[in-house]
Amino acid sequence: MISFYPGPSRVHDELSDWTKSAHKKGILSMNHRSTEFIALSKKTIKLLKNKLNIPNDYSVFFTSSATECWEVIAQSLIKNKSIHIHNGAFGEKWFDYTHRLKPEAESISFQFEKELNPKELTFNDGEIICLTQNETSNGTQVSNKIITAIKKNNPDRFIAVDATSSMAGIVLDFPSADLWFASVQKCFGLPAGLAIMICSPKVIRRMEEIGEKSHYNSLSLMKEMMDKWQTPYTPNVLGIYLLRCSARKMDNISRVDRTITKRQKDWASFFKNSKDLQLLIKNPDVQSRTVITVKGSPNLIGVVKAGAKKKGMLLGEGYGNLKKDTFRIANFPAIRKKEIKKLMEFLKTYR
Ligand SMILES: *Cc1c(COP(=O)(O)O)cnc(C)c1O
Repeated sequence: MISFYPGPSRVHDELSDWTKSAHKKGILSMNHRSTEFIALSKKTIKLLKNKLNIPNDYSVFFTSSATECWEVIAQSLIKNKSIHIHNGAFGEKWFDYTHRLKPEAESISFQFEKELNPKELTFNDGEIICLTQNETSNGTQVSNKIITAIKKNNPDRFIAVDATSSMAGIVLDFPSADLWFASVQKCFGLPAGLAIMICSPKVIRRMEEIGEKSHYNSLSLMKEMMDKWQTPYTPNVLGIYLLRCSARKMDNISRVDRTITKRQKDWASFFKNSKDLQLLIKNPDVQSRTVITVKGSPNLIGVVKAGAKKKGMLLGEGYGNLKKDTFRIANFPAIRKKEIKKLMEFLKTYR
């Protein structure tokens, strides 16, 4: 079965080799305080910085999920108020989780066909502005350009970006925000259970100022451990090893971006003149490049999903209130060209 689900998604073909070699090399029982682990952790972060163009002075942390990152941000980086700008289920969930810990959190929603206007997003309170770069539930994105402009208009606030379904798929302009995070079961093409969080030096200073130390995953404790290339708890060592293997295989992100952008354009033109199946998002300026959401009648969507499954292709269910009349196609790097061709061949008859 080829999984086009936008997470967990198709994993790299090499995964069985990598896992076998992990077993052989003793990674599966590696002690997380050993010099071997420290070397693995250091190498993995170095590779990620290199392949994804992460600034050298940004810190990279391991967590277990993007959801954990939401919580770490809420507990360790927000004193009173965060501002959440969202247009879909994941951005909304981020707000919901934060709101439970920090009741002053503010929610600002926008229409998913609309490109954010940074001029309307200048704030004079709130400590941190939370954006979802790629909204996996509906297939929209906020461009690097807009993130940069929002940061410029709000020099006294931090910008935190959920890039769970785009990091390692497209170029992210890391200096344009202060904090980024993603879990690995989307564009990294790996099994779930690991995420990375990337923080600017400014975020580290802010963390020190707030001085929150009440949790096993308080950012201050994570930083203290990461200064020694370690984590407060026993991490997903296999996951980190697999991340290193995949990072090693990865092209530089600017090349990956070109492939992904071209494939997204191909999908857009595939559905351009179709009658029964159409892209949910019409505005090319906000269309996600890594998650393609296709809309149709509930009946047809059901038929297509079932038919694809019979042919060995798993399409992503529509998310939340889009469940009945959309399906989603992951446009992640681990998916092969011939697999996309096969899916297009199948979808042709239904367009
Ligand atoms: C998948 C996803 C999450 C949740 O990731 P977990 O690793 O399950 O916590 C959060 N945000 C976005 C945008 C996602 O696509």
